[in-house]
Amino acid sequence: METINRRKFVKQTVTAAAALAVPASVFGSTTAPLQFTQLPLPYTTAALEPYIDGLTMDIHYSKHHAAYIKNINEAIAAENISFTTEKEFFANTSKLSAKARNNGGGAWNHNFFWQVMKPGASGTPYGKVVAALDGAFGSVPKFIEQFNAAAMSRFGSGWAWLVKDGNTLKVGSTPNQDNPLMDVSELKGTPLLALDVWEHAYYLKYQNKRNEYIANWWNVVNWDEVAKRLN
Ligand code: MN
Repeated sequence: METINRRKFVKQTVTAAAALAVPASVFGSTTAPLQFTQLPLPYTTAALEPYIDGLTMDIHYSKHHAAYIKNINEAIAAENISFTTEKEFFANTSKLSAKARNNGGGAWNHNFFWQVMKPGASGTPYGKVVAALDGAFGSVPKFIEQFNAAAMSRFGSGWAWLVKDGNTLKVGSTPNQDNPLMDVSELKGTPLLALDVWEHAYYLKYQNKRNEYIANWWNVVNWDEVAKRLN
């Protein structure tokens, strides 16, 4: 009985894998081009309340982020984009169409954003993150002040970032769905922390009060993820 079920499962799995592999052949290459995948949300949509409301998270994840993923994978196929890694894709953003740039950024940035938040976070960094922030910015409050200023001063839609550039930590922002991995970005480095300051990220709960959204967001920052990326 178990053997039969297992065989049936294996057969179905192989069939599904074969079906998925078909699109790669249209590129005439044995190396499949990059596909962006929407990572599962690591908590429920209401888990970050009261700081980020469930309806905003639901729409943000299932509509906005899902659309970026769908659109970038469409663009990769339609435009024969042959990069095979995210690193290569972003390092060549200057050669991409606006659709590929905007949706590729949107796909990646949100996957990153969900990871650097968590329910029941401490609200304050600890351990080696404190040492690194003290070294780069003078103190944790000074870092938060600079990060908040970057998030507040980004006109229109964009992101605020903490990045590691070589041995230096930097704070800054990017417009639209650009990110610091892109060759076109003024701010460059490996992202350690990001905040989405598009109105879709906060408008239902905070309306025009971006400053309140930013202040409350620190309560859900996942410092474990920042520490992991600091290595
Ligand atoms: Mn967003």
